[in-house]
Amino acid sequence: KKLSSSEIRKMFLDFFQEKKHMIEPSASLVPVDDPTLLWINSGVATLKKYFDGTVIPENPRITNAQKCIRTNDIENVGKTARHQTFFEMLGNFSVGDYFKEEVIPWAFEFLTSPDWLDMDKDLLYVTTYPKDTETQKLWAKVGIAQDHILKTEDNFWDIGEGPCGPDSEIFYDRGQSFNNLDADDPENYPGGENERYLEVWNIVFSELNHLPNGKYVEQPHKNIDTGMGLERLVSIIQGTETNFETDLFKPIIDHVATLSNGRKYGDKAEDDVSFKIIADHVRTVSFAVGDGALPSNEGRGYVIRRLIRRAVLNGKKLGINGPFLYKLVPIVGEIMESYYPEVSQQKDFIAKTIELEEKRFSETLNDGLSLLNGIIESLHENNKKIINGADAFKLYDTYGFPLEMTREYAHDENIDVDEDGFKANMEEQKQRARAARGNLQSMGMQDETLMEIKTPSEFVGYKNVDIKATLKN
Ligand code: ATP
Ligand code: MG
Ligand code: MG
Ligand code: MG
Repeated sequence: KKLSSSEIRKMFLDFFQEKKHMIEPSASLVPVDDPTLLWINSGVATLKKYFDGTVIPENPRITNAQKCIRTNDIENVGKTARHQTFFEMLGNFSVGDYFKEEVIPWAFEFLTSPDWLDMDKDLLYVTTYPKDTETQKLWAKVGIAQDHILKTEDNFWDIGEGPCGPDSEIFYDRGQSFNNLDADDPENYPGGENERYLEVWNIVFSELNHLPNGKYVEQPHKNIDTGMGLERLVSIIQGTETNFETDLFKPIIDHVATLSNGRKYGDKAEDDVSFKIIADHVRTVSFAVGDGALPSNEGRGYVIRRLIRRAVLNGKKLGINGPFLYKLVPIVGEIMESYYPEVSQQKDFIAKTIELEEKRFSETLNDGLSLLNGIIESLHENNKKIINGADAFKLYDTYGFPLEMTREYAHDENIDVDEDGFKANMEEQKQRARAARGNLQSMGMQDETLMEIKTPSEFVGYKNVDIKATLKN
C-alpha cells in the first residue's frame, strides 16, 4: 500500500523528532511583523526570529511543515508538473547547532533508508557549490556516486546583506520518459528546465555573513535551513506523473469533473491545465482566507481576487457556469485537516467569502466574455492576430479581466495582445486618476480654508488695519 500524504508529512516530522528536533507548528500565511513579505513563502521565513537572535529557541533544532504561497509561480501552475501557488515546505533547521556533517547523512537516510522512504539512491542527484568540497565529500561518503554529484555556481544562497552561504539541492531522476521531447535538449540535466530531474530538497549552509562593504566573513554561529516540497515528495512516493494526481489534489479534481458536464481529467491536455489551476487556486484561496486575508483591490486581497477570477475562468473553459469554487472548500478542508484543521473549522465562512466573490465576478464576466469573443471573431474574419491595447484595457477596467487572463484566452485562439498598448492605456488611466485626485485635493484645501472661518465675522473697524502692509501683500 502506498503511503498517504499525511503519513509522509508525519514521517518527516517524526524522523527529525528522533534526531532531537522540536516540532514548530505551521505559522499563518500572513507574515507577522515582517513588512518585507506579502506571504510566507518558505519554511525559514517564519523562523527569522530565531536566526536573527530576537528570540532564543527552546531547542536549537527545529522541524516544521509550513504552508507557503508563491505567486511568482502562478504562470507555471498546470504547465509544469511541480509548481503550485500554494504548497507545503518540510524543513529542518539548526540554529547554531549541527552543520554539514550531520545534515547530509540525515537527508540521505530519510530518503533512502528502508525504514523511511526507501528511495533508490542511484536515482538521486545532488548539486553543490563548486568550491564547497566539504559537501561534495560528504555526499560521496554516504554513497552518492561521483557522477551524481554536480557542481554549479547557482548553488549559493545570498540575498545581499546578511547571512548567506552555499547550498546543495537534491534531485530525483524520474526516468528517460520524462526527458524533454528532444532527447538531446541541453536542458535535460538536474537543475535544467525539464520534468525528468525533479528538485525535491534544498539544503542551505548558512556559514558566511555578507557585509555592507561587499566582503564575506565567516559567521560565529553557522546555521542550517532546509526546504522540501511535500507535494513533490508525495508525487515520487505515490508514483504520479505530476503533483496533481497525488492524494493532495486528486479528490478536488475529481469533484471538479463531476461539476463539469462530462469532462474527464486525463482526456485532453488543455482541460487538464484548467483542472490543475482550479485545484491549486482553491487551496491557496481557502488557506489565505482561513488565515484572515480577504478579497480586495490591493495587496494580499488582490492576489486572492485574481486567483478566484482565474479559477472561475478556467471553470468556464471546462463548461462550468455559475459559482462552483466555493463547493470545493470542504474537500480541501478534509484533505488537509489532519495537520491543518483551520480550513475545515472555518469552511462555512471561507466558502461564503469565495461564493460572494464568484457571484460578483460572474456578473461582469459574462458580459466581458461575449465582448472578447466578439473581438476575436472579428479579428479572425479580418485575418488579424492582435487584440489592441484599448480593447484589452477595456476588458480589464470594465470587466475585471486581468491582462494575463485575456492573454491566455486569446493564445488558445492563436491571437496575441498588444501589451505595450495595454500598458499605455493603463498609464493614461492612472494619470486621469491622479489628476482627479489632484482636483479633490485642491477642493479639500479650499474646504479647509472655509472651515477656518467658522467664527462669525466681526467688524473691527479700520483702525487695526495697516494699510501699507495690506497694499504690499
Ligand atoms: P524550482 O527550481 O523547482 O522552481 P526552487 O529552487 O524555486 O524550485 P526553493 O526556493 O529551493 O525552490 O524551495 C525549496 C523547495 O520547495 C523546492 O526544492 C521544492 O521542493 C519546493 N517548492 C518550491 N517552489 C514550489 C512551488 N511553486 N510549488 C511546489 N513546491 C515548490
Ligand atoms: Mg522556483
Ligand atoms: Mg530550483
Ligand atoms: Mg531550489
